[in-house]
Amino acid sequence: MGIACSGLNCDTEGMYSPEVLNHFKNPHHTGAQENGGTVVEVTNPVCGDTLSLSARIDAGRIADAQFLAKGCVTSIACGSVLADLMQGKTPAELVKITPEQISKELGGLPSATFHGAQLACDALAALLDKLSAKAISA
Ligand SMILES: [Zn+2]
Repeated sequence: MGIACSGLNCDTEGMYSPEVLNHFKNPHHTGAQENGGTVVEVTNPVCGDTLSLSARIDAGRIADAQFLAKGCVTSIACGSVLADLMQGKTPAELVKITPEQISKELGGLPSATFHGAQLACDALAALLDKLSAKAISA
């Protein structure tokens, strides 16, 4: 955890809100492969950050969501917030999570690090795609 990404848009000193640093230092629900759920991985082409997201569904709700991020401070913090937001939600509720909402949870991300929230929502969208594909084929 916490490997700084070398992208020019990332990790400029002093740009982090206390909320971002708090999630970065103590990320919630890390793991992403261990809960036996559906797993996706997305990469941010701009700076090469990757985010793995996994979710186990029970009775139509997220019983457990985990993430694993490799990238800048903000991407890790956004993964942590996203995993928090996902717990106990239905897929229909998850669709409504926006990058703006994740940014808000982190005290408002500046445009230079907003890509972390975007990446988290890309991962969520990929996960929901995979979950609905599974539901149809089941
Ligand atoms: Zn980044």
